[in-house]
Amino acid sequence: MKKIIGIISVFCIAQISLLAQPTFQIEGEEVFANDDVVFHKIDEHTWVGTGKAMSNESLYLVEGNEKSMLIDAGTNIKDLDKIVASITTKPFTVVATHVHPDHTGPSIDVFSEIYINPADTVGIPQFMPDYKGEVKFLKDGEIFDLGGRKIEVVFTPGHTPGSTTFIDKDAKYGFSGDSFGSGNLLLITNFSTLKSTCEKTSALMEKYGIDTFYPGHFFGSNKETRKRVDDLKTISEDALAGKIEGEENPNGFLGLNLLINKYGVRVNYGKDALK
Ligand SMILES: [Zn+2]
Repeated sequence: MKKIIGIISVFCIAQISLLAQPTFQIEGEEVFANDDVVFHKIDEHTWVGTGKAMSNESLYLVEGNEKSMLIDAGTNIKDLDKIVASITTKPFTVVATHVHPDHTGPSIDVFSEIYINPADTVGIPQFMPDYKGEVKFLKDGEIFDLGGRKIEVVFTPGHTPGSTTFIDKDAKYGFSGDSFGSGNLLLITNFSTLKSTCEKTSALMEKYGIDTFYPGHFFGSNKETRKRVDDLKTISEDALAGKIEGEENPNGFLGLNLLINKYGVRVNYGKDALK
């Protein structure tokens, strides 16, 4: 437990110090609030939960006619299963945008199973050490049919090897976790991976007419846009070609000691990200 608290505080401090501290204002009716989390309605069958532990870490609850899906579980939200059941009466599946302690923290321990991208299995010993349930694997392109509402799984590695975005084509939005950074991307893999992810994602956004994704740290005004995805592609290409260089950032953590601040987005990375 001590180790978990240590990891969480490292992430917490990093997020607080690196994010530009956007104003927190989520519109929509508040449907649940306690000391750990507050849930607001996004639309008739979709809610965003805002955790209070790590820079407004976001959870999303998406409901179809027959089933629901909880996308991410926050950090340490007591009785999250009961909270979710108080908002939706439909049985729900728990999926993660990636394995980090502000998305799959001890909150998940109440759930008997969770779906993750298999490429993030590497993070399980560090970030989900006490999870006793079954870890199931998502497939790229897989569709979860919630009954009248389909959610497509799109692997978007970069922030972590197994970062994943969940797209609702009909609603014309998705949920991208930390894949595109919520304004402050921590690039734990490398620019080649990020470039491929942005190319793939931008093409899908074009094809499906999707303008925005709800991010992993939603403040009410920082949805990811197609422009953001395209800008991150440009930054990746320019960094790989040596056209732009990051500034030294001695406060970077996880070895991410270089920082590019361009087009209104910050990309934190380490020197190995250019290989
Ligand atoms: Zn993360």
